[in-house]
Amino acid sequence: MTRPTPVMPGVTAPDYDLSQPLDLDYVGAFADVAPDERAHQLAVRAFVQAEVLPVIDGYWERAEVPFDLVKKLAEQDFLRDGVDVPGRPKISFMAEGLASMEMSRGDGSVATICGVQGGLALRSIVMHGSPEQVERYAGPMARGEILGAFALTEPTHGSDSVSLETTARKETRDGVEGYVIDGEKKWIGFGSCGDITVVWARLVGEDGDNQVHGFVVPQDAPGYTGTTIEGKLSLRAIWQAHIALDDVFVPADAALPGATSFKATAAVLFATRLAVAWSAVGHAVACYEAAVAYAKQRIQFGKPLAAKQMVQERLTHMLSLVTQMQLLVAQTTRLADAGQLSGEQASLAKYTTTRQAREVASIARDMLGGNGILLGNRVARHFADIEALHTYEGTESMQALIVGRDITGVSAFA
Ligand SMILES: Cc1cc2nc3c(=O)[nH]c(=O)nc-3n(C[C@H](O)[C@H](O)[C@H](O)COP(=O)(O)OP(=O)(O)OC[C@H]3O[C@@H](n4cnc5c(N)ncnc54)[C@H](O)[C@@H]3O)c2cc1C
Repeated sequence: MTRPTPVMPGVTAPDYDLSQPLDLDYVGAFADVAPDERAHQLAVRAFVQAEVLPVIDGYWERAEVPFDLVKKLAEQDFLRDGVDVPGRPKISFMAEGLASMEMSRGDGSVATICGVQGGLALRSIVMHGSPEQVERYAGPMARGEILGAFALTEPTHGSDSVSLETTARKETRDGVEGYVIDGEKKWIGFGSCGDITVVWARLVGEDGDNQVHGFVVPQDAPGYTGTTIEGKLSLRAIWQAHIALDDVFVPADAALPGATSFKATAAVLFATRLAVAWSAVGHAVACYEAAVAYAKQRIQFGKPLAAKQMVQERLTHMLSLVTQMQLLVAQTTRLADAGQLSGEQASLAKYTTTRQAREVASIARDMLGGNGILLGNRVARHFADIEALHTYEGTESMQALIVGRDITGVSAFA
Protein backbone atom coordinates (compact mmCIF):
# COMPACT_ATOMS: atom_id res chain seq x y z
CA MET A 1 0.00 0.00 0.00
CA THR A 2 1.25 3.48 -0.83
CA ARG A 3 1.31 5.58 2.29
CA PRO A 4 -0.11 9.08 1.89
CA THR A 5 2.35 11.93 2.21
CA PRO A 6 2.53 13.23 5.79
CA VAL A 7 0.72 16.55 6.14
CA MET A 8 2.46 17.43 9.43
CA PRO A 9 5.48 15.86 11.07
CA GLY A 10 4.38 12.60 12.61
CA VAL A 11 0.85 12.80 11.24
CA THR A 12 -0.62 11.21 8.11
CA ALA A 13 -3.76 11.84 6.13
CA PRO A 14 -6.61 9.38 6.79
CA ASP A 15 -6.37 5.92 5.23
CA TYR A 16 -9.75 6.47 3.58
CA ASP A 17 -11.69 9.28 1.95
CA LEU A 18 -13.26 11.70 4.41
CA SER A 19 -13.08 14.75 2.17
CA GLN A 20 -16.88 14.98 1.87
CA PRO A 21 -18.44 15.19 5.35
CA LEU A 22 -21.75 13.40 5.77
CA ASP A 23 -24.75 15.67 6.28
CA LEU A 24 -26.02 13.22 8.83
CA ASP A 25 -29.64 13.66 9.94
CA TYR A 26 -31.29 10.30 9.31
CA VAL A 27 -34.80 11.06 10.56
CA GLY A 28 -34.87 14.83 10.08
CA ALA A 29 -34.15 15.85 13.67
CA PHE A 30 -33.00 19.24 12.38
CA ALA A 31 -35.47 19.48 9.48
CA ASP A 32 -37.24 22.49 10.94
CA VAL A 33 -34.24 24.64 11.83
CA ALA A 34 -34.44 28.16 10.44
CA PRO A 35 -32.43 29.03 7.30
CA ASP A 36 -30.06 31.30 9.25
CA GLU A 37 -29.43 28.52 11.80
CA ARG A 38 -28.69 26.07 9.00
CA ALA A 39 -26.41 28.65 7.36
CA HIS A 40 -24.50 29.04 10.65
CA GLN A 41 -24.08 25.25 10.86
CA LEU A 42 -22.76 25.04 7.30
CA ALA A 43 -20.40 27.97 7.85
CA VAL A 44 -18.85 26.19 10.85
CA ARG A 45 -18.64 22.95 8.87
CA ALA A 46 -16.84 24.69 6.01
CA PHE A 47 -14.44 26.32 8.50
CA VAL A 48 -13.69 22.96 10.09
CA GLN A 49 -12.99 21.33 6.71
CA ALA A 50 -10.78 24.16 5.45
CA GLU A 51 -8.99 25.35 8.58
CA VAL A 52 -9.18 22.79 11.38
CA LEU A 53 -8.86 19.30 9.91
CA PRO A 54 -5.74 19.94 7.82
CA VAL A 55 -3.71 21.02 10.86
CA ILE A 56 -5.27 19.79 14.07
CA ASP A 57 -3.60 16.38 14.39
CA GLY A 58 -0.21 18.06 14.58
CA TYR A 59 -1.31 20.39 17.36
CA TRP A 60 -2.96 17.50 19.19
CA GLU A 61 0.13 15.33 18.95
CA ARG A 62 2.47 18.11 20.04
CA ALA A 63 0.02 19.26 22.75
CA GLU A 64 0.15 22.81 21.43
CA VAL A 65 -2.62 25.41 21.48
CA PRO A 66 -3.51 26.48 17.91
CA PHE A 67 -3.39 30.23 18.57
CA ASP A 68 -3.52 30.97 14.82
CA LEU A 69 -6.86 29.10 14.71
CA VAL A 70 -8.11 31.13 17.69
CA LYS A 71 -7.57 34.25 15.59
CA LYS A 72 -9.43 32.71 12.65
CA LEU A 73 -12.29 31.60 14.90
CA ALA A 74 -12.63 35.20 16.09
CA GLU A 75 -12.57 36.53 12.53
CA GLN A 76 -15.52 34.25 11.71
CA ASP A 77 -17.30 35.31 14.95
CA PHE A 78 -17.26 31.69 16.21
CA LEU A 79 -15.07 32.37 19.26
CA ARG A 80 -17.86 33.92 21.36
CA ASP A 81 -19.70 30.58 21.23
CA GLY A 82 -23.08 32.20 20.59
CA VAL A 83 -22.93 34.46 23.66
CA ASP A 84 -24.72 37.81 23.24
CA VAL A 85 -22.22 40.59 22.62
CA PRO A 86 -23.35 44.20 22.08
CA GLY A 87 -23.21 45.15 18.41
CA ARG A 88 -23.16 41.55 17.14
CA PRO A 89 -26.11 39.48 15.87
CA LYS A 90 -28.00 37.39 18.41
CA ILE A 91 -27.51 33.65 17.93
CA SER A 92 -30.21 31.15 18.93
CA PHE A 93 -29.41 28.13 21.09
CA MET A 94 -30.25 25.98 18.06
CA ALA A 95 -27.72 27.75 15.83
CA GLU A 96 -25.11 27.57 18.55
CA GLY A 97 -25.84 23.90 19.24
CA LEU A 98 -25.44 23.02 15.57
CA ALA A 99 -22.18 25.01 15.60
CA SER A 100 -20.89 23.12 18.66
CA MET A 101 -21.74 19.82 16.98
CA GLU A 102 -19.87 20.78 13.80
CA MET A 103 -16.87 22.18 15.67
CA SER A 104 -16.55 19.00 17.76
CA ARG A 105 -17.06 16.85 14.68
CA GLY A 106 -13.82 18.51 13.60
CA ASP A 107 -11.98 18.67 16.89
CA GLY A 108 -12.77 18.67 20.59
CA SER A 109 -9.94 21.00 21.64
CA VAL A 110 -11.07 23.69 19.19
CA ALA A 111 -14.67 23.34 20.36
CA THR A 112 -13.48 23.58 23.97
CA ILE A 113 -11.49 26.73 23.15
CA CYS A 114 -14.78 28.36 22.06
CA GLY A 115 -16.53 26.89 25.11
CA VAL A 116 -13.98 28.31 27.55
CA GLN A 117 -13.52 31.70 25.90
CA GLY A 118 -17.14 32.34 24.96
CA GLY A 119 -19.39 29.90 26.80
CA LEU A 120 -17.74 30.27 30.21
CA ALA A 121 -15.51 33.36 30.58
CA LEU A 122 -17.28 35.81 28.28
CA ARG A 123 -20.71 34.57 29.35
CA SER A 124 -19.85 35.13 33.04
CA ILE A 125 -18.98 38.75 32.29
CA VAL A 126 -21.96 39.40 30.01
CA MET A 127 -24.38 37.69 32.40
CA HIS A 128 -23.08 39.11 35.68
CA GLY A 129 -20.86 42.10 34.83
CA SER A 130 -21.55 45.83 35.10
CA PRO A 131 -22.17 47.79 31.86
CA GLU A 132 -18.57 49.09 32.19
CA GLN A 133 -17.18 45.55 32.49
CA VAL A 134 -19.22 44.38 29.49
CA GLU A 135 -18.00 47.40 27.50
CA ARG A 136 -14.38 46.72 28.51
CA TYR A 137 -14.25 42.98 27.88
CA ALA A 138 -17.03 41.72 25.58
CA GLY A 139 -15.83 43.15 22.24
CA PRO A 140 -12.13 42.37 22.79
CA MET A 141 -12.98 38.83 23.94
CA ALA A 142 -15.21 38.19 20.91
CA ARG A 143 -12.35 39.46 18.73
CA GLY A 144 -9.85 37.21 20.50
CA GLU A 145 -7.76 40.17 21.69
CA ILE A 146 -8.35 39.18 25.32
CA LEU A 147 -8.34 35.47 26.12
CA GLY A 148 -10.36 34.48 29.17
CA ALA A 149 -10.51 31.58 31.59
CA PHE A 150 -13.19 30.42 34.05
CA ALA A 151 -11.82 29.16 37.36
CA LEU A 152 -14.26 27.25 39.52
CA THR A 153 -12.80 23.78 40.12
CA GLU A 154 -10.19 23.34 42.86
CA PRO A 155 -7.75 20.52 43.60
CA THR A 156 -9.99 19.38 46.46
CA HIS A 157 -13.40 20.44 45.08
CA GLY A 158 -14.61 19.17 41.70
CA SER A 159 -18.16 17.82 41.66
CA ASP A 160 -18.69 19.58 44.99
CA SER A 161 -17.30 22.91 43.77
CA VAL A 162 -20.17 24.54 45.68
CA SER A 163 -17.92 23.97 48.74
CA LEU A 164 -14.95 25.79 47.16
CA GLU A 165 -12.29 27.13 49.53
CA THR A 166 -10.69 29.97 47.57
CA THR A 167 -11.32 33.17 49.51
CA ALA A 168 -11.69 36.86 48.73
CA ARG A 169 -11.65 39.52 51.44
CA LYS A 170 -12.10 43.27 51.17
CA GLU A 171 -8.95 45.29 51.71
CA THR A 172 -7.61 48.75 50.90
CA ARG A 173 -4.03 48.80 49.60
CA ASP A 174 -2.13 51.97 48.80
CA GLY A 175 -5.41 53.85 49.02
CA VAL A 176 -7.15 51.57 46.50
CA GLU A 177 -10.23 49.66 47.65
CA GLY A 178 -10.33 46.09 46.46
CA TYR A 179 -10.14 42.41 47.30
CA VAL A 180 -7.36 40.01 48.22
CA ILE A 181 -7.81 36.53 46.73
CA ASP A 182 -6.13 33.37 48.04
CA GLY A 183 -6.55 29.76 46.99
CA GLU A 184 -5.95 27.19 44.27
CA LYS A 185 -7.78 26.20 41.11
CA LYS A 186 -7.34 23.14 38.93
CA TRP A 187 -8.21 22.18 35.34
CA ILE A 188 -8.66 25.75 34.18
CA GLY A 189 -8.71 26.07 30.37
CA PHE A 190 -6.56 29.03 29.22
CA GLY A 191 -5.60 29.60 32.88
CA SER A 192 -1.88 29.65 32.06
CA CYS A 193 -1.90 31.17 28.57
CA GLY A 194 -4.72 33.72 28.59
CA ASP A 195 -5.12 37.32 29.76
CA ILE A 196 -7.85 37.26 32.40
CA THR A 197 -9.46 34.63 34.61
CA VAL A 198 -12.95 34.78 36.08
CA VAL A 199 -12.20 33.47 39.57
CA TRP A 200 -14.97 32.16 41.79
CA ALA A 201 -14.14 32.75 45.46
CA ARG A 202 -15.88 32.83 48.83
CA LEU A 203 -16.22 36.33 50.29
CA VAL A 204 -14.88 36.18 53.85
CA GLY A 205 -13.67 38.63 56.46
CA GLU A 206 -15.52 41.34 58.38
CA ASP A 207 -17.68 42.40 55.42
CA GLY A 208 -17.92 38.90 53.99
CA ASP A 209 -21.18 37.03 53.46
CA ASN A 210 -19.45 33.64 52.97
CA GLN A 211 -21.10 33.40 49.54
CA VAL A 212 -19.36 32.56 46.25
CA HIS A 213 -18.58 35.71 44.21
CA GLY A 214 -17.01 36.19 40.79
CA PHE A 215 -13.92 38.35 40.11
CA VAL A 216 -12.08 39.23 36.91
CA VAL A 217 -8.41 38.63 37.70
CA PRO A 218 -5.62 39.59 35.27
CA GLN A 219 -3.29 36.63 34.73
CA ASP A 220 -0.28 38.92 35.17
CA ALA A 221 -1.42 40.08 38.62
CA PRO A 222 1.30 39.60 41.26
CA GLY A 223 0.61 36.35 43.15
CA TYR A 224 -1.21 34.66 40.22
CA THR A 225 0.68 31.59 38.97
CA GLY A 226 -0.84 29.43 36.22
CA THR A 227 1.02 26.18 35.57
CA THR A 228 0.01 24.14 32.53
CA ILE A 229 -1.05 20.59 33.39
CA GLU A 230 1.11 18.21 31.39
CA GLY A 231 0.71 14.59 30.32
CA LYS A 232 -2.97 15.00 29.41
CA LEU A 233 -4.35 12.39 27.00
CA SER A 234 -7.58 14.15 26.07
CA LEU A 235 -8.16 17.54 24.38
CA ARG A 236 -4.42 17.89 23.94
CA ALA A 237 -4.69 21.06 21.83
CA ILE A 238 -6.00 23.21 24.67
CA TRP A 239 -4.12 23.72 27.90
CA GLN A 240 -5.63 23.48 31.33
CA ALA A 241 -3.85 25.05 34.29
CA HIS A 242 -3.26 24.52 37.95
CA ILE A 243 -3.57 28.05 39.35
CA ALA A 244 -2.12 29.31 42.62
CA LEU A 245 -3.61 32.57 43.93
CA ASP A 246 -1.33 33.90 46.61
CA ASP A 247 -2.34 37.26 48.09
CA VAL A 248 -3.63 38.48 44.71
CA PHE A 249 -4.96 42.05 44.98
CA VAL A 250 -7.64 43.25 42.53
CA PRO A 251 -9.43 46.62 42.62
CA ALA A 252 -13.09 46.80 43.67
CA ASP A 253 -14.27 47.04 40.06
CA ALA A 254 -12.92 43.53 39.38
CA ALA A 255 -15.92 42.06 41.22
CA LEU A 256 -18.81 41.01 38.97
CA PRO A 257 -21.79 42.79 40.60
CA GLY A 258 -24.28 40.13 39.50
CA ALA A 259 -22.17 37.23 40.76
CA THR A 260 -22.83 37.21 44.49
CA SER A 261 -23.81 33.59 45.16
CA PHE A 262 -23.24 30.13 43.69
CA LYS A 263 -26.55 30.55 41.85
CA ALA A 264 -24.70 32.94 39.50
CA THR A 265 -22.02 30.31 38.82
CA ALA A 266 -24.68 27.67 38.24
CA ALA A 267 -26.53 29.95 35.80
CA VAL A 268 -23.39 30.09 33.60
CA LEU A 269 -22.94 26.31 33.78
CA PHE A 270 -26.60 25.70 32.99
CA ALA A 271 -26.20 27.66 29.76
CA THR A 272 -23.13 25.67 28.69
CA ARG A 273 -24.36 22.17 29.59
CA LEU A 274 -26.45 21.89 26.45
CA ALA A 275 -23.50 22.98 24.29
CA VAL A 276 -21.47 20.11 25.75
CA ALA A 277 -24.31 17.72 24.89
CA TRP A 278 -24.18 18.96 21.27
CA SER A 279 -20.39 18.57 21.24
CA ALA A 280 -20.76 14.94 22.22
CA VAL A 281 -23.03 14.44 19.20
CA GLY A 282 -20.31 15.97 17.02
CA HIS A 283 -17.71 13.50 18.29
CA ALA A 284 -20.11 10.62 17.65
CA VAL A 285 -20.90 11.81 14.11
CA ALA A 286 -17.16 12.00 13.32
CA CYS A 287 -16.62 8.45 14.56
CA TYR A 288 -19.65 7.15 12.71
CA GLU A 289 -18.65 8.69 9.39
CA ALA A 290 -15.11 7.34 9.75
CA ALA A 291 -16.46 3.86 10.48
CA VAL A 292 -18.77 3.91 7.42
CA ALA A 293 -15.98 5.12 5.13
CA TYR A 294 -13.55 2.57 6.48
CA ALA A 295 -16.00 -0.32 6.27
CA LYS A 296 -16.65 0.44 2.61
CA GLN A 297 -13.00 0.39 1.56
CA ARG A 298 -11.38 -2.15 3.91
CA ILE A 299 -11.25 -5.60 2.28
CA GLN A 300 -11.05 -8.66 4.53
CA PHE A 301 -11.79 -12.25 3.52
CA GLY A 302 -12.15 -11.01 -0.08
CA LYS A 303 -14.98 -8.56 0.59
CA PRO A 304 -15.34 -5.06 2.06
CA LEU A 305 -16.11 -5.04 5.79
CA ALA A 306 -19.33 -3.24 4.81
CA ALA A 307 -20.58 -6.46 3.20
CA LYS A 308 -20.41 -8.39 6.49
CA GLN A 309 -23.65 -8.80 8.43
CA MET A 310 -22.07 -8.09 11.81
CA VAL A 311 -20.48 -4.92 10.53
CA GLN A 312 -23.78 -3.69 9.11
CA GLU A 313 -25.47 -4.36 12.43
CA ARG A 314 -22.81 -2.39 14.27
CA LEU A 315 -23.09 0.53 11.85
CA THR A 316 -26.86 0.46 12.35
CA HIS A 317 -26.38 0.47 16.12
CA MET A 318 -24.07 3.48 15.85
CA LEU A 319 -26.53 5.32 13.61
CA SER A 320 -29.33 4.48 16.04
CA LEU A 321 -27.34 5.98 18.93
CA VAL A 322 -26.41 9.10 16.94
CA THR A 323 -30.01 9.58 15.83
CA GLN A 324 -31.30 9.28 19.40
CA MET A 325 -28.72 11.85 20.47
CA GLN A 326 -29.68 14.23 17.67
CA LEU A 327 -33.38 14.02 18.51
CA LEU A 328 -32.69 14.68 22.19
CA VAL A 329 -30.47 17.72 21.64
CA ALA A 330 -32.82 19.11 18.99
CA GLN A 331 -35.83 18.89 21.30
CA THR A 332 -34.09 20.18 24.45
CA THR A 333 -32.69 23.06 22.40
CA ARG A 334 -36.16 23.93 21.10
CA LEU A 335 -37.17 24.15 24.77
CA ALA A 336 -34.13 26.32 25.52
CA ASP A 337 -34.96 28.71 22.69
CA ALA A 338 -38.52 28.93 24.06
CA GLY A 339 -37.15 29.67 27.55
CA GLN A 340 -38.64 26.42 28.88
CA LEU A 341 -35.62 24.15 29.41
CA SER A 342 -35.09 22.93 32.97
CA GLY A 343 -31.69 22.15 34.46
CA GLU A 344 -32.73 18.53 34.80
CA GLN A 345 -33.63 18.29 31.11
CA ALA A 346 -30.24 19.77 30.19
CA SER A 347 -28.62 17.22 32.52
CA LEU A 348 -30.50 14.38 30.82
CA ALA A 349 -29.19 15.61 27.45
CA LYS A 350 -25.58 15.81 28.64
CA TYR A 351 -25.82 12.46 30.44
CA THR A 352 -27.25 10.70 27.41
CA THR A 353 -25.09 12.15 24.66
CA THR A 354 -21.71 11.88 26.42
CA ARG A 355 -22.52 8.30 27.40
CA GLN A 356 -23.65 7.29 23.91
CA ALA A 357 -20.79 9.14 22.20
CA ARG A 358 -18.33 7.07 24.23
CA GLU A 359 -20.05 3.92 22.98
CA VAL A 360 -20.03 5.08 19.35
CA ALA A 361 -16.33 6.06 19.59
CA SER A 362 -15.50 2.72 21.13
CA ILE A 363 -17.23 0.73 18.36
CA ALA A 364 -15.61 2.85 15.64
CA ARG A 365 -12.19 2.44 17.20
CA ASP A 366 -12.65 -1.32 17.15
CA MET A 367 -14.03 -1.39 13.61
CA LEU A 368 -10.91 0.30 12.25
CA GLY A 369 -8.72 -2.42 13.71
CA GLY A 370 -5.13 -1.29 14.23
CA ASN A 371 -5.81 1.77 12.08
CA GLY A 372 -8.24 2.84 14.77
CA ILE A 373 -5.41 3.89 17.06
CA LEU A 374 -3.62 6.00 14.44
CA LEU A 375 -4.09 9.71 14.98
CA GLY A 376 -4.36 10.39 11.23
CA ASN A 377 -7.52 8.28 11.05
CA ARG A 378 -9.30 10.68 13.44
CA VAL A 379 -11.26 8.18 15.50
CA ALA A 380 -8.54 7.85 18.18
CA ARG A 381 -8.54 11.62 18.76
CA HIS A 382 -12.32 11.68 19.22
CA PHE A 383 -12.14 8.52 21.34
CA ALA A 384 -9.68 10.29 23.67
CA ASP A 385 -11.41 13.69 23.62
CA ILE A 386 -14.87 12.42 24.53
CA GLU A 387 -13.37 11.37 27.89
CA ALA A 388 -12.95 15.01 28.88
CA LEU A 389 -16.55 15.84 27.93
CA HIS A 390 -17.71 12.88 29.96
CA THR A 391 -16.13 14.56 33.02
CA TYR A 392 -16.26 18.33 32.60
CA GLU A 393 -19.23 20.61 33.25
CA GLY A 394 -20.62 17.97 35.60
CA THR A 395 -19.66 14.30 35.35
CA GLU A 396 -21.98 11.63 33.98
CA SER A 397 -22.72 10.52 37.55
CA MET A 398 -23.53 14.05 38.71
CA GLN A 399 -25.93 14.55 35.79
CA ALA A 400 -27.58 11.23 36.69
CA LEU A 401 -27.91 12.35 40.31
CA ILE A 402 -29.50 15.65 39.26
CA VAL A 403 -32.07 13.78 37.16
CA GLY A 404 -32.43 11.16 39.91
CA ARG A 405 -33.29 13.86 42.45
CA ASP A 406 -35.95 15.14 40.08
CA ILE A 407 -37.44 11.67 39.56
CA THR A 408 -37.47 10.68 43.24
CA GLY A 409 -37.59 13.96 45.11
CA VAL A 410 -34.57 12.76 47.10
CA SER A 411 -31.10 14.24 46.73
CA ALA A 412 -28.50 11.46 46.77
CA PHE A 413 -25.46 13.70 46.52
CA ALA A 414 -25.75 16.48 49.08
C1 LIG B 1 -10.19 18.66 30.25
C2 LIG B 1 -10.88 19.35 31.37
C3 LIG B 1 -11.16 20.72 31.28
C4 LIG B 1 -11.74 21.39 32.36
N1 LIG B 1 -11.93 22.75 32.29
C5 LIG B 1 -12.35 23.42 33.38
C6 LIG B 1 -12.41 24.86 33.38
O1 LIG B 1 -12.07 25.52 32.38
N2 LIG B 1 -12.81 25.48 34.52
C7 LIG B 1 -13.17 24.80 35.65
O2 LIG B 1 -13.52 25.44 36.64
N3 LIG B 1 -13.13 23.44 35.68
C8 LIG B 1 -12.73 22.74 34.58
N4 LIG B 1 -12.67 21.36 34.60
C9 LIG B 1 -13.00 20.64 35.82
C10 LIG B 1 -14.23 19.76 35.72
O3 LIG B 1 -15.40 20.53 35.75
C11 LIG B 1 -14.14 18.73 36.85
O4 LIG B 1 -13.11 17.81 36.48
C12 LIG B 1 -15.44 17.99 37.09
O5 LIG B 1 -16.39 18.84 37.69
C13 LIG B 1 -15.24 16.77 38.01
O6 LIG B 1 -14.49 17.09 39.12
P1 LIG B 1 -13.24 16.18 39.53
O7 LIG B 1 -12.39 15.99 38.32
O8 LIG B 1 -12.61 16.82 40.71
O9 LIG B 1 -13.83 14.79 39.89
P2 LIG B 1 -14.52 14.35 41.30
O10 LIG B 1 -15.58 15.34 41.67
O11 LIG B 1 -13.47 14.05 42.28
O12 LIG B 1 -15.22 13.00 40.85
C14 LIG B 1 -14.55 11.74 40.76
C15 LIG B 1 -15.58 10.66 40.48
O13 LIG B 1 -16.50 10.60 41.57
C16 LIG B 1 -17.82 10.76 41.10
N5 LIG B 1 -18.62 11.45 42.13
C17 LIG B 1 -18.39 12.64 42.71
N6 LIG B 1 -19.35 12.93 43.59
C18 LIG B 1 -20.20 11.86 43.59
C19 LIG B 1 -21.40 11.55 44.29
N7 LIG B 1 -21.95 12.39 45.17
N8 LIG B 1 -22.01 10.36 44.04
C20 LIG B 1 -21.49 9.50 43.12
N9 LIG B 1 -20.37 9.74 42.42
C21 LIG B 1 -19.73 10.92 42.65
C22 LIG B 1 -17.71 11.57 39.83
O14 LIG B 1 -18.84 11.39 38.98
C23 LIG B 1 -16.44 10.97 39.22
O15 LIG B 1 -16.74 9.78 38.58
C24 LIG B 1 -12.11 20.67 33.52
C25 LIG B 1 -11.86 19.30 33.58
C26 LIG B 1 -11.26 18.64 32.54
C27 LIG B 1 -10.97 17.17 32.67
